[in-house]
Amino acid sequence: MDMRADVLIVGAGMVGSALALALQGSGLQVLLVDGSSLSVTPYDRDGAFEPRVSALSAASQRILERLGVWDGILQRRASPYGQMQVWDGSGTGQIHFSAASVHAEVLGHIVENRVVQDALLERLHDCDLGLLANARLEQMRRSGDEWLLTLADGRRLRAPLVVAADGANSAVRRLTGTATREWDYLHNAIVTSVRSSQPHQRTAWQRFTDTGPLAFLRWRGTGRKIGVRLSGRPPLPNPNA
Ligand SMILES: Cc1cc2nc3c(=O)[nH]c(=O)nc-3n(C[C@H](O)[C@H](O)[C@H](O)COP(=O)(O)OP(=O)(O)OC[C@H]3O[C@@H](n4cnc5c(N)ncnc54)[C@H](O)[C@@H]3O)c2cc1C
Repeated sequence: MDMRADVLIVGAGMVGSALALALQGSGLQVLLVDGSSLSVTPYDRDGAFEPRVSALSAASQRILERLGVWDGILQRRASPYGQMQVWDGSGTGQIHFSAASVHAEVLGHIVENRVVQDALLERLHDCDLGLLANARLEQMRRSGDEWLLTLADGRRLRAPLVVAADGANSAVRRLTGTATREWDYLHNAIVTSVRSSQPHQRTAWQRFTDTGPLAFLRWRGTGRKIGVRLSGRPPLPNPNA
């Protein structure tokens, strides 16, 4: 028999998982499906850093607190930053943000995406929300007033509302024929972890150069290890040349 929900969320990444938790207590029957196993990675404090990180603002922190996952993030690892120093490579301009100037303790936290994801999943497994792992969406079509979704293993799901939270290469987007506009920014990015010779001073550093920004985002609570994100693009063509 087909499974049915009021809201069917496809994709249990940071977006889909957070939405499912936010809908808890709404009275709606929510079903969250994902193609992966949705298992929580055993946490290793000294494990390698994941290159994908997010800068979480105080507003994002409040959302995650309300969802009951902020403690799970802090128990793993998150690196607060209290200052941000931004300047341009030619030395003509700079701007400095500090938590003290807005009477706050921190400006935000740099957190590995895996950590956010695991804290969300941990909370989801403790809730009574419908969660379907190893459930890869393969087909989708309208059926009366509802959407009918078929998974790779043949299971069928029905819902009047489907949320596409299945990432950049969304199957929902493709299967519903949702149009997108895309263009190439001619940007390339390198993300890696380095150990710096100087302490990071709880500061996120960003330098804008002619070939793109260079950002050092602090990553480790007490040590000197920080994340570095380099991004560059070919110089823009000179219209006068
Ligand atoms: C290097 C880098 C740095 C970034 N830095 C930042 C930052 O500082 N701040 C910020 O806000 N954003 C940042 N982003 C962007 C951010 O990481 C993404 O926007 C965010 O992870 C997207 O989350 P999501 O939940 O929408 O998708 P995803 O994390 O991609 O999750 C999609 C989920 O859908 C599932 N799925 C996919 N296809 C199917 C299917 N057919 N059936 C079932 N399930 C499916 C997948 O298994 C996955 O669990 C960065 C991205 C990169 C690459």
